[in-house]
Amino acid sequence: GIAFLDGQYLPMSQAKISVLDWGFLHSDATYDTVHVWNGSFFRLDLHLDRFFGGLEKLRMTIPFDRDGVSEILHNCVALSGHRAAYVEMLCTRGASPTFSRDPRQAVNRFMAFAVPFGSVANAEQLRRGLHVAISDKVRIPPASIDPAIKNYHWLDLVRGLYDAYDRGAETALILDFNGNVAEGPGFNVFCVKDGRLSTPAIGVLPGITRRTVFDLCAEEGFAAAAADVSVAALKGADEVFITSTAGGIMPVTVIDGVPVADGKIGAITSRLMALYWQKHDDPAWA
Ligand code: PLP
Repeated sequence: GIAFLDGQYLPMSQAKISVLDWGFLHSDATYDTVHVWNGSFFRLDLHLDRFFGGLEKLRMTIPFDRDGVSEILHNCVALSGHRAAYVEMLCTRGASPTFSRDPRQAVNRFMAFAVPFGSVANAEQLRRGLHVAISDKVRIPPASIDPAIKNYHWLDLVRGLYDAYDRGAETALILDFNGNVAEGPGFNVFCVKDGRLSTPAIGVLPGITRRTVFDLCAEEGFAAAAADVSVAALKGADEVFITSTAGGIMPVTVIDGVPVADGKIGAITSRLMALYWQKHDDPAWA
């Protein structure tokens, strides 16, 4: 892969930052990830919106506007030579020259990179559906940080993952403070009941893939809503799937060791998965 750092394009192995950077020390950073499929970006504008929104809320500034960032991302992809890439833009608070506690003294640092595309789910998991555990040990505090700021703070999600692995599952979902389902490490979740889709509304990153599911549902005439999803509702659903830039729409067929409905990938999930990839060839969805 290829990185952009301090004005230069470098092989990934040479892209290094200081351990005094607040992105590392305090998780004081925001980022966004977009994917490139068959050489084209998918929904780049939505990812740029979210990234620049996060920068503004965190009061970080970078020396590039949207077109400038877009150009850097395109250059990283072109130099990497990958037709299917996972592309990240990020900004850390940076390092303070005096090791001060005052974030205003740090010099914000913009970086970007393009690496080969990797999915949350592997090919076998996509064929048979993921096995997920719901970790009730870990809850996302209400609005401790704005969930719309995409960030690297994953202590809750990583603890949830270990809990899931201990129980023989492949990935995790964690709960919000009310005990409803929130999200997983790098993905949102949807369930389908009687033909209607729902996805958690609060305490979750507003995923671009989640948004794309709403757009596909509007086209297909499927009812979809953002609302509380209880653990019981998820386990009693007809279909469950997760959504992420890294992998798109991915089926879930087992929750806490018990099959979802008949344990097969559902019709609505299959339809949305097919449409999702079709839209990658549609310039209207670029
Ligand atoms: N939730 C979290 C915590 C994430 O980190 C991500 C993406 O990395 C998502 C959800 C999915 O968002 P998107 O569809 O924009 O990739």
